[in-house]
Amino acid sequence: MHSYRIFCDFDGTIAKRDVGNLVFTQFGNENHWWRLVHQWKIGKLEGREMWRRQAATMTLTPAQLDAFAATQPVDPTFAGFYAFAKQIQAPLYVVSDGMDAYISRILACNGFSDLQLRTNQLTFAEDGRIEVEFPYHADGCGQCANCKGLHVRRERKPGETTVFIGDGRSDLCGAREADIVFAKKQLLEYCEKEGIAHIPFRSFAEVQAELQRRLA
Ligand SMILES: [Mg+2]
Ligand SMILES: [Zn+2]
Repeated sequence: MHSYRIFCDFDGTIAKRDVGNLVFTQFGNENHWWRLVHQWKIGKLEGREMWRRQAATMTLTPAQLDAFAATQPVDPTFAGFYAFAKQIQAPLYVVSDGMDAYISRILACNGFSDLQLRTNQLTFAEDGRIEVEFPYHADGCGQCANCKGLHVRRERKPGETTVFIGDGRSDLCGAREADIVFAKKQLLEYCEKEGIAHIPFRSFAEVQAELQRRLA
């Protein structure tokens, strides 16, 4: 009998869209953001600096973020997967190199407010400015703002099978650590390039079916 411990990306994986990109372009300087993201992807800019430099261009209030979060769709098959993880008593973590402020709001809007979050933090200042903080950075790889590999290493227990689900560059460290990797989009390309064993997927229904198959 397997016992699973599941680590799941948020932007583009649970949320249909990359909400981090949307928030930081909609409420900040868009061209500036894409330049920063490019520098980060090619390894020339540390993750924390990417977020900090863009945060400095932004104004955002809690009310604006509430309204924004209510419009963001999640993968329609995530609800079934969430119920499945509960049923098999598999701990399920949302690991994100994005910000708690939008992630927790979108999860709450969709009835998933009890998930365990491992994310960066966005706080609102009085004048509409925001601040970003990185509580997990010091123990990570140094390049990620919030290294997902750290959370897999820190949380896994002997005898468990760790599962990682993701879609992008910030999932790479997590994918390197986990026993089973479900990958789509850019993460799929990174896994192929780096020779990381992985299972391609499109929706959580496929992830659930594969994990169920392995339990049987
Ligand atoms: Mg993602
Ligand atoms: Zn990392």
